[in-house]
Amino acid sequence: MLKLTVVMDDQAFRDALLRKRGEILGGTAAKPLQWTMENNSGRQGDMADQASGNNEVHIQLKLKQTDAKILQAIEEALRRLDSGTFGICRDCGEPIADARLNAIPWTRVCISCKEKQKA
Ligand SMILES: [Zn+2]
Repeated sequence: MLKLTVVMDDQAFRDALLRKRGEILGGTAAKPLQWTMENNSGRQGDMADQASGNNEVHIQLKLKQTDAKILQAIEEALRRLDSGTFGICRDCGEPIADARLNAIPWTRVCISCKEKQKA
């Protein structure tokens, strides 16, 4: 049996990043599309249905913008894994806390730099 090493940690983060990327690429479009089809099959040309349909489009667009940002961050994190700089804060160069990386593997900065960004 292989023992857990630092390399295995990288592999775990890589798996988590690839899984999240798969969720975003595969998961978002399916559900709202099904909903819309179910709504349309009932009554067509209804004013109220049209209004709710427009709202759904807006929500979907907003989701896609957020997903695109996360996707970009995931791609960057995967590149950092390849170059051996994963888990290093982009702003201050200090290691990012494991708890933060476990929660958000695609994060670019440590918690104190994140707080500075908000301020
Ligand atoms: Zn930092």
